[in-house]
Amino acid sequence: MAVKITEECIACGACEAECPNDAIYEAGKEYTLGGQTFPALSDETTYIVPEKCTECVGFNDEPQCIPSCPTEAIALDPDHTETPDQLKAKKEHLDTIGR
Ligand code: SF4
Ligand code: SF4
Repeated sequence: MAVKITEECIACGACEAECPNDAIYEAGKEYTLGGQTFPALSDETTYIVPEKCTECVGFNDEPQCIPSCPTEAIALDPDHTETPDQLKAKKEHLDTIGR
């Protein structure tokens, strides 16, 4: 995971539509990965699934969700940094297993 959603989120949903990896979900909603369904990672805020976020690598030059947010609630997460090669490999893995 390279980006995270902060407490500034107002749950407007704008970022969800921008994500090419289908990595953003509203609070309490189950997420999918590799053809399976998993419990929501947060019941309180819109959330990003770390295994599905590639910082948009493989689709766009910059993360698409960050500029879409009206409250600047999406930020790079310094606790979860990945190299461009790792992000590219994650994208290719998602292409294989399904998002
Ligand atoms: S950076 Fe890109 S892949 Fe990651 S959550 Fe935002 S839109 Fe989705
Ligand atoms: S665009 Fe920003 S405020 Fe809206 S749901 Fe996404 S993180 Fe929350």
